[in-house]
Amino acid sequence: MTFSELNLIEPILKALQAEGYTQPTPIQEQAIPHLLAGKDLLGCAQTGTGKTAAFAIPILQLLHNQKERSSNTIKTLILTPTRELAIQINESFAAYGKNTGIRHTVIFGGVSQHAQVQTLKRGVDVLIATPGRLLDLIGQGFINLKKVEFFVLDEADRMLDMGFIHDIKRIIPLLPQQRQSLFFSATMPPVIQKLADTILNNPVKVEVTPVSSTAEKVQQAVYLVEKNDKRHLLKHILDDSEIERVLVFTRTKHGADRVVKDLNKANIQAEAIHGNKSQNARQRALGNFKAGTTRVLVATDIAARGIDVEELSHVINFELPNEPETYVHRIGRTGRAGNKGIALSFCDTEERPYLRDIQKLIKKQLVINADHPFALPAHLSVNLDALPATKGPKPGGNRGGGNRNGGGNRSGGNSTGGGGRSGSWGNKEARTNGQSRPSTHRNA
Ligand code: AMP
Repeated sequence: MTFSELNLIEPILKALQAEGYTQPTPIQEQAIPHLLAGKDLLGCAQTGTGKTAAFAIPILQLLHNQKERSSNTIKTLILTPTRELAIQINESFAAYGKNTGIRHTVIFGGVSQHAQVQTLKRGVDVLIATPGRLLDLIGQGFINLKKVEFFVLDEADRMLDMGFIHDIKRIIPLLPQQRQSLFFSATMPPVIQKLADTILNNPVKVEVTPVSSTAEKVQQAVYLVEKNDKRHLLKHILDDSEIERVLVFTRTKHGADRVVKDLNKANIQAEAIHGNKSQNARQRALGNFKAGTTRVLVATDIAARGIDVEELSHVINFELPNEPETYVHRIGRTGRAGNKGIALSFCDTEERPYLRDIQKLIKKQLVINADHPFALPAHLSVNLDALPATKGPKPGGNRGGGNRNGGGNRSGGNSTGGGGRSGSWGNKEARTNGQSRPSTHRNA
C-alpha cells in the first residue's frame, strides 16, 4: 500500500515524500480512508504507531479541500495531555501540511500566554492544546470553539491518569454538535470507553497496537538488584559504549535529579526532564538528547510522555512504575516505527509486586539477567515470583559488540513470546496477548 493509493492530494503526498515516508503504517492505512469519508473514529493506539499522521493527514486534506476557508475561525481542535506531545503534534502539522497553507498553532501551560494569544489573534485553522491552558484562554475570551468541525481527543487514558477528565467534560459542550470526532487511547478501560461513547457518533474502530504488542518487539530484561545498588548498576551498564542514547525512567522528580547527579559525577552526560523544570529547560534537555550531546535523559513518566526520539535504542527503568500500563508506555519509547529496542528494568525487593503486575498485563514472563556484579545472591533471587533465571538481552543489544558484564554465556536473545492480536474492545484481558502463563501468575 502506498500513500497515493489512499487518495491523498498532491501537496500532502509531496510533504510525506519529503519526510521520507514510503508507506503508511497500519493505523494510517486503516484510519485515513474512513476519516476522509467523514466518519468518527475510535482508535486504540499509542505513540510510535504513526497515529499522529493518521489523524493529521486527513484533517489537513479535508481542510484544504474546503473552498471557503476563513482563517479566523478554529476549525480543528486537538486536545492532548502534555506540552511535549502538543509540540510534537504541532510539528507534525507543520511537516505534513507545509504545502497546504493551513495555519496551526499550539498552546500549553507553564509559559507566558502572550505569544500564544498573538498567534490566535492572527487566526488559525488548527489548534493543538492541553486542556488547562485551553480552558484558561476560553475563559479570557481569546478562543471560541463554535466553528470547530474536527475534534481530536488524543491519549485519552493519559488524560484520565493526569486528572484532566473533568476539564474535558467542560470542553465538550463548547463544541458544536455537528462535527467529526476522533478519539485515541492506548488502553480502553470501561471509564474511557464510556467517555468515548459520549463524544463519538457511530465510530469506526481501529485497533493497531494493543497494550501488549509493544512489548513484543522490544527486547526486555529485568535486573534484580538492591535499591542502593541501582546507581552502581546503571553506571556499570553505561560502561558499554555501544549504548549511545538511553532514556532512564524514575518514579519521582527528586529521583530523576539524583540519578543525573550521580551520572554527572561519573562523567556521564545526563540531563533530567520533569515537571519542576521550566518549559525551556525541558526543551533544551530534549534538544541536547536528540542531538546526541546528552547521552542519558532521565525522565519521570509525565514528562516523558510523547518524547519522540528516533533511534532511541534503550530504555532503562531505574524504578518500576506502580501502574503496569506505564511500563508499556515507557518501553514504547524505544522500538519505534519498526525498529528494535531494548528495555532493561531494575527491580528491588519492594518493587516485586509491580513486576508481577507488569507480567500479568503483558502476559509474558520477563527474563532475568543475573549476569552482573550487583545480582542478588542466589538464595535471595530464587523463588522470586517464579521468574526464570535466564539471560536477557545484552545491554548493548545484538549489534555485534561485546559487553562488559563478564562471565556467563549470554545469548543476547530474548525469550519473550509473541502472539496475534485479538480484536476485542473494552476488555483488557481479552485485548492483551502473547504467552499466557497462568500457573506463574498464580505462583507470583
Ligand atoms: P506517532 O505514533 O505519531 O508518535 O509517530 C511515531 C513516529 O513514526 C514519528 O517519528 C513519525 O514521524 C513516524 N512516522 C509516522 N508515520 C510514518 C510513516 N508512514 N513512515 C515512516 N515513519 C512514520
